[in-house]
Amino acid sequence: MLELRNVSVQYGSFTAVQNVNIHVHEGEIVVLLGSNGAGKSTVFRTISGLNKLSKGEIVFKGNRIDRYSPDRIVQLGIVQCAEGRKLFSRMTVYENLLMGAYIHRKEKEKIKQSLNHVYELFPILKEKRNDLAGALSGGQQQMLAIGRALMSRPKLLLLDEPSIGLAPLIVEQMFQIIKQINKEGTTILLAEQNAHAALHIAHKGYVFENGTIAVQGTSQELFANDNVHKAYIGT
Ligand code: ATP
Repeated sequence: MLELRNVSVQYGSFTAVQNVNIHVHEGEIVVLLGSNGAGKSTVFRTISGLNKLSKGEIVFKGNRIDRYSPDRIVQLGIVQCAEGRKLFSRMTVYENLLMGAYIHRKEKEKIKQSLNHVYELFPILKEKRNDLAGALSGGQQQMLAIGRALMSRPKLLLLDEPSIGLAPLIVEQMFQIIKQINKEGTTILLAEQNAHAALHIAHKGYVFENGTIAVQGTSQELFANDNVHKAYIGT
């Protein structure tokens, strides 16, 4: 479905991502692991068209997309749910969700269905639909950010650190919901520092170190890898 072939990305003369190869098949949950600054967010922004690559190519469903605008990439079905959430804090939950559906703005029935789907996944968003996004708790804001991304009915959902700053119980809930979204047919590429929880739901993963892929494998292989275990999973 998505393939990054020998992708390198630079910020000025600094190479943040070097010769990265990633393959995401339809229906998978794929996780990118690695510490702060390893290059995961840069990879996400490059897939979304927000950063330009300096080398390599990105292919989505047979089309080379690395010269496409961010808008065109969303139209194709690749939607990023950003780290830090970037919600419209002075708009209501409902208004934020509608903003996520702007590519379907002329299809009222479709929007209604998407909204019902998001409310089913996150009942708390239905309950708080008239509250300002800025008044939600951290976990609820993260749910809203994912809900907003789902409103455009992505084929491939990019989730950058969905568990960051959340209480352990909420993290658990969040990963169960991500698994559910995947079961319903959305392919997911996830960047996470919470390797333990992420590998539990992922099919496979890539470990980033200093902008390159140090290790890759199925979730079982990564769990069983001593170095990965020591560095990212712990006891
Ligand atoms: P984090 O989880 O902290 O976002 P990450 O693995 O996603 O970490 P990136 O944000 O992709 O890492 O950063 C990769 C490298 O690129 C880091 O060394 C970072 O300092 C650098 N970098 C990121 N954005 C920029 C930018 N706009 N200009 C210059 N350097 C940048």
